[in-house]
Amino acid sequence: MDIIPEQQPFLQEIDQSLFTRKVARLSMLRLDVIHKHVSGNKWYKLKENIRLCQQKEIIKLLTFGGGYSNHLAATAAMANISGLQSVGVVRGRYDTLTPTLRFCIDNGMQLHFVSFEEYKQKDNPTYIHELASQFNYPFIIPEGGANEEGRVGAEEIACYIPDDFTHITVSVGTGTTMVGIVNATQSIVTGFAPMKGGAYIEGEVKQYIETAKHQSYTVKDLWHFGGFGKSTNDLITFMNEFYMQNNIPLDMVYTAKMMWGVKDCIHKGEYPTNAKILCIHTGGLQGNSSIAEKLIYK
Ligand SMILES: *Cc1c(COP(=O)(O)O)cnc(C)c1O
Repeated sequence: MDIIPEQQPFLQEIDQSLFTRKVARLSMLRLDVIHKHVSGNKWYKLKENIRLCQQKEIIKLLTFGGGYSNHLAATAAMANISGLQSVGVVRGRYDTLTPTLRFCIDNGMQLHFVSFEEYKQKDNPTYIHELASQFNYPFIIPEGGANEEGRVGAEEIACYIPDDFTHITVSVGTGTTMVGIVNATQSIVTGFAPMKGGAYIEGEVKQYIETAKHQSYTVKDLWHFGGFGKSTNDLITFMNEFYMQNNIPLDMVYTAKMMWGVKDCIHKGEYPTNAKILCIHTGGLQGNSSIAEKLIYK
C-alpha cells in the first residue's frame, strides 16, 4: 500500500513589514499541512523506511524517543496508517503519560520504557540485537529517523523548492532532514539547532553530504532559549505575533526558534538584501501541547 499525504505542501510569503531590515523574498514551505498526525519532515524521513519494511515483508517497526518526541508520535501514526505494528523504546519512566505517549498508544504503539542508562545504548549493535529478538525481529529505525532511508526520503522535500531561492533555512535535531535538502538543492542552507551547543551537528552530518556538489551549509545554535524543549515568554509572544501576521502556527521546540533566528540574522545583515530565503516549516505542532493555554492558536 502506498501512503500519500492528505494535503500537498505549499509556499507562503512571510510578512516583513515590521522587520528593521528586509530581504528580497522571505517565504515558508508549509510541510506542516501535509497530514493531521504525521506533519512535516517526519513524513519524508519515515516514508522510505516504511517502504523498505513493506518490501522486506516485515510487519513491525521499532524506534526510539523521549516522552515528547515528534518522531515517536509520527512513527506510531505512520505505522498505524500503513497497517504495521510498532514498538516505541521510551527514555525514562513516566508516572503519568505525556500527551505524546498517550497519542502513541492510541495509534497502537507498544511502549517499552527503559532507564536513561539503558537508553544510551540505543545505537549499540549488541543491544539492538537483544531488542530485536525480544520484539520478534522488527524493522529498526534509529532515534529521529536518522538513517539512510531518512536522508534519502528527505531529499524529496527539495521537489517543492523553486530554484530561484538563494537560501534555505531548516531546523535541525539529528540533521537528517538538512542533509537531504543540502544534497538535493544548490542553495545555501542554514540549519538552526534548538538546543545548547547544537552547532556540532554541522560536523556530525558532514560524512553524509555529497561534497562533489560543493553545497554550502552551516548550523547555528544561538537561539536555543535555554535548551531543547525549553521556551521563554518572549518566544511564546513571538509565536502569537507570527501567527497574527502570517496565519502560520509555529511549534515551540523547533520552528519558532528557527524563525526567531532567521529574523535576527536578517536584522544583523547576515543575509544580503537581494536574498530570497525559503524557511522550511517542518511541522511538529503536537509539541505545543505543554504551552497550549498561552497560544492563540492550536
Ligand atoms: C524532528 C524535527 C526536526 C528535526 O529533524 P532532523 O531531521 O532530526 O534534523 C525539525 N523540526 C521539527 C518540527 C521536527 O519535529
